[in-house]
Amino acid sequence: MKVAVIGAGYAGLAAAVELAAQGISVTVFEAARQLGGRARRVDYLEMALDNGQHILLGAYRETLRLMRMTGADPAELLLRLPLQLVIPGRFRLQAAPLPAPLHLAFSLLTARGLTWGERISAVRFMSAMRRRNFRLGDDIGAGKMLTMHGQTGNLRRYLWEPLCIGALNTPLETASAQVFLNVLRDSLAGSREDSDMLLPLANLTHLFPEHADAFLKSHGGKIIHSQTVLAVKDEAARFSLEMRPGTEKFDQVICAVPPQRLAALTANLPELAQARAQVGHFSYQPIYSVFLQYPAATCLPRPMIGLYGGITQWVFDRGQLNHEPGLLCAVISAEGPHQTLDHDELAQRVNDELRATLPDLPQPLWHKVIAEKRATFACSPDLQRPGQVTPLPNFYLAGDYTAGDYPATLESAVRSGVKCAQLILESP
Ligand SMILES: Cc1cc2nc3c(=O)[nH]c(=O)nc-3n(C[C@H](O)[C@H](O)[C@H](O)COP(=O)(O)OP(=O)(O)OC[C@H]3O[C@@H](n4cnc5c(N)ncnc54)[C@H](O)[C@@H]3O)c2cc1C
Repeated sequence: MKVAVIGAGYAGLAAAVELAAQGISVTVFEAARQLGGRARRVDYLEMALDNGQHILLGAYRETLRLMRMTGADPAELLLRLPLQLVIPGRFRLQAAPLPAPLHLAFSLLTARGLTWGERISAVRFMSAMRRRNFRLGDDIGAGKMLTMHGQTGNLRRYLWEPLCIGALNTPLETASAQVFLNVLRDSLAGSREDSDMLLPLANLTHLFPEHADAFLKSHGGKIIHSQTVLAVKDEAARFSLEMRPGTEKFDQVICAVPPQRLAALTANLPELAQARAQVGHFSYQPIYSVFLQYPAATCLPRPMIGLYGGITQWVFDRGQLNHEPGLLCAVISAEGPHQTLDHDELAQRVNDELRATLPDLPQPLWHKVIAEKRATFACSPDLQRPGQVTPLPNFYLAGDYTAGDYPATLESAVRSGVKCAQLILESP
């Protein structure tokens, strides 16, 4: 059996390593030179930046499992920190070293920047959600759900809103309350380890894709870089992948391209009409990453801090994380007024906002803005996402946009890839 995987993002690579581990002959086609898709290394000024700063959670079980399986040691490649959200001078929440669920209750009850009423309201909200198993009858906007449960004021401003935008990359008012609850269930309300934040200590291509590549090679698989698949044709129970130059035939195909590429690639497959229609209803949200290089001695008080009141949401100290001294990366998720600024203005604005919190910050030596205008699908209420199984036998869909509990994340991408591989392994 010959299996083709189209796309070497985290979803495609997850599928490929699962199959190769079971002795299946797998070939991965990747349009870009670099592996990792949206979670890839970007080379700039002899540095290995990332396409955008990423955070993983302890709850990313499948991602962590596949990292281990391919020889990428999470303990070496990820900085594991107890959940901590710090907006200097305004807010501080840190998971307590207690067993779940006490660690959560304690951290909410001791959060700085909230009134006693807000702390108790947060604990009540989480207990109410736990009692209903984090399930809503009908999905609604996350903002509306929080209002219905009295989650207002600083509690909403400093805790729920940044968490929702960070996790779903969708503004609170238009984000799916159900998907937000799924994230809270597995992180904040999960075990203490699940709620840990895992910050990459290496670039995103090294974190998993390079290890997956080596694993595939040693298990008889291969990745063909810089090879765009132009179309897939269904020819008498085999699939013909059209490329320039030539075509190649496979028994099974896992299509692991981003949702925007699905329609063109599957145009010859009428069975994929429903998946194309579902994706056609998606809208997308941006993520901007603003890298600011300061003199090497510059550092943040901790690896990651939040900012409030401007456009900058989170700032990461790449010196403490990726051995890039003096390099800070500001992250701005979801749509907003920052999109009207050009890259120089945006970098200046982020620098000004940082200096309001850290007055001693010198002028940056250079900056680089990476604007992913369609970083993820907008995770809106009741969004219909295509399943991994399609009506076309032996043709599967993987990717962060396919059906699942999570918003567009590394873990949803990996889980979808693992599921496709399992379906193939279980097929007669
Ligand atoms: C800036 C940014 C920040 C993010 N932050 C986080 C975070 O903190 N935590 C988190 O969990 N997630 C985060 N995400 C989301 C995460 O990166 C994605 O959910 C995940 O990488 C998607 O993986 P994927 O494999 O589904 O798709 P992709 O990564 O998009 O991979 C698809 C691959 O298919 C290839 N391809 C496309 N067309 C073809 C073709 N015709 N032929 C061959 N190859 C093709 C592409 O080149 C690409 O490599 C972030 C995303 C962005 C953009």
